[in-house]
Parts: sequence; structure tokens; C-alpha cells
Amino acid sequence: MVNKTKLAVFKFASCDGCQLSLLDCEDELLSVADAVDIAYFLEARSRRVEGPYDVGLVEGSITTPGDVGRIQEVRRACKYLVTIGACATAGGIQALRNWANVDDFFRHVYAHPEFISTLNTSTPISDHVAVDFELRGCPISKHQLIELLTALVHHKKPTTPTHSVCVE
Ligand code: SF4
Repeated sequence: MVNKTKLAVFKFASCDGCQLSLLDCEDELLSVADAVDIAYFLEARSRRVEGPYDVGLVEGSITTPGDVGRIQEVRRACKYLVTIGACATAGGIQALRNWANVDDFFRHVYAHPEFISTLNTSTPISDHVAVDFELRGCPISKHQLIELLTALVHHKKPTTPTHSVCVE
């Protein structure tokens, strides 16, 4: 039996819109269904297959101390790490905090700020770990996502506009 590509999808600080783009790819994913095992995708299914994974898609930015450690674990678990969307590739709308005083938000928004654990910044995934490909947009283009996944499944270099390092 041919080994399937193990795909995992991880969420950090985000609105889930880019993951929904993947869910919206149902028909297109059928064309690579024989070659892909969706091993970890909490947004879509309760089944959780342990890593390592061949391809990890990461949505969202780094905004909490816990995120900083978790993205390192995600990186170690994935052969190819692909960041999807403006949150993951640039910090997202939540990066507006980078030019503000987060303590002011605590005081004015939360009744009990002592329960909040957050960083002063929202930063892209590539500020923390090596990223193999970036898909930009808010949300991403599902056509670019399918092209990228199809290329990786077939061990080819994607032709869709991506950023960062290339596949051998
Ligand atoms: Fe949502 Fe846009 Fe962030 Fe994607 S890039 S998770 S659509 S806010």
C-alpha cells in the first residue's frame, strides 16, 4: 500500500477563516484523497493521529506565552510547515496591539485582567520557527492551497505564489 501524506492543521490566534477555506475545498480534495491522510484537524474532525506529519498547515499568529512553546512542538512534528493567511504570515489584525499599550486594554476591557495571559505583541509564525511555505491573503485562496497541497503530495515544487524556502 502506498504511504499517504499525513496532513495536520494547527490553529493559533485567528478567526478560523483560513481553515474554512480548507473545508471549502471538499470537492478538490477528493482528487488527492487517495494520497492524503488528514491526521489532525480539530476544526473538522475528532480523530487525532499522533505526529510526525508530512505537511503541517498553521493558521494564526503567536500571541501568548503558551503559543511560543507550542509552535516549536508543531515545527518539530512537521516535515513541511506551511503558514496560511495574514494572521500566520504577518501577525494579522491582532498585531495592532504591537503599537499600543496592552496594559491599557487590560484595564479598560477586562473585569479581571489577572486571569489574562498574553504577550504584548502578535507576531507571524516565521518570527519563531523556520517556515517552508507561506500562503498569504485574508482568507487564503483555496485554489492556491489545493495547488500547494497537490504539489507537496507529489513531491513537486509548487507553482502557486509562495514565500520562504523551496522544496528540493
Ligand atoms: Fe481569519 Fe484572515 Fe486570519 Fe485567515 S488571515 S484566520 S481569514 S483573519
